[in-house]
Amino acid sequence: MLCDEPVSALDVSIQAQILNLFKDLQEEFGLTYLFIAHDLAVIEYISTRVAVMYLGIIAELSGSIDLYKNPLHPYTQALLSAAPIPDPKVEKERKRIILTGDVPSPDKERHCCYFYDRCWKRMDKCLERKPALVEVETGHEVACFLYHDKGVETVKNA
Ligand code: SF4
Repeated sequence: MLCDEPVSALDVSIQAQILNLFKDLQEEFGLTYLFIAHDLAVIEYISTRVAVMYLGIIAELSGSIDLYKNPLHPYTQALLSAAPIPDPKVEKERKRIILTGDVPSPDKERHCCYFYDRCWKRMDKCLERKPALVEVETGHEVACFLYHDKGVETVKNA
């Protein structure tokens, strides 16, 4: 079932009820959801596997627990660093990664890494071609040249 931002317009208490309903229906009928959302807490709660996308390209693909514990792609790291943590002690020490630069137009064909303009870890080779998705750990794939010597190429990012 394709669910495109199904809870984004709801307040938090209704969100929780709807998410629990999704889970109950999944258990009862053995459903699979393709769940599209921007809220990182919602994604963590509902997903078993997560694809992080930037400009329509998969930047990272992983099991949910692994992704939240060990984000690899600089974009995923920046996204997760921006998410509030519901523990005042940990939240106080949270270091936020602030991205600079503008998001490039998604309809412009690019021959380099799509995240190049905003990446604080970029290298010369990131300008030369697009990084393919490589499997760095079992079930954890990332499209970034920082990991290309550590993984097996799975899919070419077009
Ligand atoms: S390939 Fe390069 S520019 Fe792209 S995310 Fe990785 S380090 Fe950054």
